[in-house]
Formats: sequence, structure tokens, C-alpha cells
Amino acid sequence: MAVAASERQVVEAVPKRLFVAGEWREASGGGEFAVEDPATGEVLCRVADATAEDALAALAAAGRAQREWADTPPNERAELLWRAFEELRRRADELALLMTLEMGKALAESRAEVLYAAEFFRWFSGEALRLDGYVKRSGDGRSRLIVTREPVGPCLLITPWNFPLAMGTRKIGPALAAGCTMVWKPAQLTPLSALALAGVLAECGLPPGVLNVVPASDARAVTEPLLRDPRLRKVSFTGSTAVGRRLMAAAGERVLRVSMELGGNAPFLVFDDADLDAALAGAVTAKMRNVGEACTAANRFLVAEAIADEFARGLAARLSELRIGRGSAAETQVGPLVSAEQRQKVAELVADAVDRGARVLTGGNAPAGPGYFYEPTVLYPVPDGARLLREEIFGPVAPIRTFASEEEALAEANASEYGLVAYVYTRDLDRARRVCERLEFGMVGLNQGIVSNAGAPFGGVKQSGIGREGGNEGIDEYLETKYVALAAG
Ligand code: NAP
Repeated sequence: MAVAASERQVVEAVPKRLFVAGEWREASGGGEFAVEDPATGEVLCRVADATAEDALAALAAAGRAQREWADTPPNERAELLWRAFEELRRRADELALLMTLEMGKALAESRAEVLYAAEFFRWFSGEALRLDGYVKRSGDGRSRLIVTREPVGPCLLITPWNFPLAMGTRKIGPALAAGCTMVWKPAQLTPLSALALAGVLAECGLPPGVLNVVPASDARAVTEPLLRDPRLRKVSFTGSTAVGRRLMAAAGERVLRVSMELGGNAPFLVFDDADLDAALAGAVTAKMRNVGEACTAANRFLVAEAIADEFARGLAARLSELRIGRGSAAETQVGPLVSAEQRQKVAELVADAVDRGARVLTGGNAPAGPGYFYEPTVLYPVPDGARLLREEIFGPVAPIRTFASEEEALAEANASEYGLVAYVYTRDLDRARRVCERLEFGMVGLNQGIVSNAGAPFGGVKQSGIGREGGNEGIDEYLETKYVALAAG
């Protein structure tokens, strides 16, 4: 399918080069890699492919810019973030189209992501003005204890393809507010949103070297030398638990600060006293946001026996009505998955569940034709042992299981090495409190199918990560505490 003129224009408008020291540069090796439209499988454009040498040049630029950026008055940092917040909102349509072209999701969802991404700049613009410390007298009265907070220093940011803009601003916002400089390695599948964001920040007055962007086809080759380099002080990663583990081990060698936003396996609990319509609406949001390609996606639906048949029929009806298509078409509600590999993995997980006896209520197929589409799918019931109960599905597939008691629901919900987010639907206040307290997750959506909010601390426990992004806590990830003992004379 030919790319429409407006689509061509938004792709053409993005610089396809590295952004280092405030300049757009070719890769030192002269290499490029292709960016595909997952709705067609066609190549959209080619982007400069950073080498280890380029990444080190980016870190050198970040290192040079660090002192001055840390010394920039908080008002200036706050104003820059505010300008960028406004600019992202002003350009929401164009950035949304760009995002849809490179990662597939429907335009309305991309637009929602651009606005969500902008919210981190609004939030951290305010936080830049609140980097406080405190002073107190020592117990013996002989010193003044002066406690301040200082920027950690140059950071390496590594982000995934599923939220190409928001996963960037969730790190860049607090890093800028705190006074840190950065090297950003965006996902290979979605470098265009990252490059467009660098352009926006540069237009808003970001000094050279504060943010450097190095898209690359070989993530390891460009990040490993940085993790070994004494100029780097921190790595902030969003992505899979497997890669996070590896990065933590490498960071351990140099005792780097780390923030890890890793995988999830969210349970979605529906008790028999729940408002069923609200639970179904929440289930569609929690499952279908981003075509299921979200760390927060409901991965296991656990429903009280008494209402499970009705819930399963209702969810199947709602998912079967969703319109699949190219994300850039106005009527589309469900775009393609990001790649052939991702679709293959989803299809394998469904096949495994069906082989073990799961019943398909709707979907279960990859439609014929170009693009990496997969039908919204409901499996009910799903037997013990199915892989998709343990692994992240990252696709539009809803496995439903039943429980007989609150104890059983909690035991199954907590039986995962992940602990990012859980969803609970109940109208019983006592039960809501009990269940929220006993769920081993960093976040809970209570009668709500979405938890993402720039003003809230996003993050997981267990193998879902370390640290929080957004909220009052988000800035702490980019600050060190310093204490000066001042002789009181
Ligand atoms: P991924 O394979 O872990 O990749 C994430 C990023 O790490 C990409 O930029 C990738 O580069 C890079 N990378 C891969 N291998 C690396 C290595 N050895 N060293 C350094 N960097 C490396 O994850 P993904 O498939 O893109 O994203 C999906 C995962 O992200 C899911 O598990 C999801 O749950 C998680 N996620 C978590 C959150 C959260 O906030 N907790 C949010 C969104 C997504 P390439 O692009 O070149 O592979």
C-alpha cells in the first residue's frame, strides 16, 4: 500500500541522523538501518546507525555539558520543560501520525500517548522548582547539618518500542529537572519518535550536549562501552526483565545507579459483587490499550465462578466488535503488532493454550494479507500450565480463569515472578482494602483499567523492576543526597 502524502511528510520532516552535542550527525561508520511500517511491512525510511564510537562521543558531550546544566537556574530548567510540554501538545497530531507509522497502533492511541508523554514535562517542570534540602543543628549543637540534593550526573537511557515517546519523556523530564545530562538509546523499531522529540527539545532551547540520541541496530555494541565508562553515573532502562537483569549485572561492575522498569504479568480480578459492565469496560482498556503490547496489559483474567461465563461472553462480544486495520485509518481501533516476531510469539502462546485444552471464544487467528495483525482473542477456560499464564503475551489475547474464593484469587494473582500492576473489580469496600493490601504489586487499578498518570509513582516490585517514574518519587531517581557538616563555631 502506498504511503499517503501527509504520512510521507511527517516521516520526511524527521532528521534521520544521530543527535550529538546539539548537532545532527551521520553515524561514524556511515551505516543506516531501516524503519518499517508494521501495517504493511514496507520500509518507511532509513536512519543513521550509531556505533560504539558515536555512543562514546555522545557520552563525552553529555559529560562536557553536565556542570553547566547542573548550574542552570531551576527557573530556566522549568521553563524549558514547560515550553516542550506546550510544543508536544501543539504538535500532537503530527507526532501521533509518526508514531502510528513506525509502531502500528491506532491514531487515537498514538495521540493519547503524545499527550501522556507531554504530561511528564508538565509535571517535572514543576518539580524542577522544588529540589529542596534542609538544615538542622547537630545533637551536640557543634555543627549545622546541611543536606542538599544534587544531580546524579550523565545518564544512559534505554527505552522500548511500545511507547516510543512516553517511555522517553518519563526519563528525560526528571533528568532535565534534576540537572542531569543524557545519552538516549531508543528502540531500533521506533527511532523516529525519539528523533522528533530531540528536535522539539532543541527548538525549545535545550543546550547542546544535554540530551544526545543514538539510534542503533546493535543495542549491546553501543551501550556496553558506556556502562564501562567512568563518565557515566546512571542507567535507566525500560524493557524486558531478561535485558534488565543483564544491564544490572553490568552496572554492578561500576556500582552505577540503576532504575529498572521491566516486564509485567498483570492479573485482572473480578469478584462476584463487581459492577459487571464497569469490569468489562475496564477489561477492554486494560487488555487492548496499545494492542496489548504494554507492560501494564492485563495478562490473566481471574473471575469469580458465579459470573465467569457471563464475563467471558461479554468480553468476547466487545473484543469481536473492534475494527482491525492500518493504524492511520480513522476508523481503526486495533492496529497491527509491531513485528512479525511479536505476532509469531503471540500465535505460539495461543496455540500452546489451545493444545492444552483452552477454548477460543473469539479470534485466535492472524488475518491474511500484509502487516502483522492478530485478531482480538478471548480464551475461556484456560487450564493450568498454559504458557501465557506465566509469560507476557504482549498481544490482544485475553485468557480467562475462574476462582472459588478470595484466598484462591489472591494466591493465583501473586503466583508470578512479576509484580508491576494488578486490577481489581469489587464494590465491597472491606474486600477492596484487604485485596489491595495483599496483592504483591507496585500498582493496583481499583475499579479502573488504567493506572498510568504522570503524577503517580509508576513502577513494580519483584522482577518487574526497581525505582519509580513519575509522581513525587520520580525525581529522586536522578538525585544524590549530599550532606555538609558546618562547624557552628
Ligand atoms: P527489550 O528487548 O528489553 O528492549 C528494550 C530496549 O533495550 C531496546 O532499546 C533494546 O534495543 C534495548 N536492548 C536490547 N538488548 C539489549 C542489551 N543487551 N543491552 C542494552 N540494551 C539492549 O524490550 P522490548 O521488547 O523492546 O519491550 C518490551 C518489554 O518492555 C516488555 O517486557 C515490557 O513489559 C517492558 N516494558 C516495561 C515497562 C515498565 O514501565 N515497566 C514499560 C514498557 C515496556 P533494540 O530495540 O535494538 O532491541
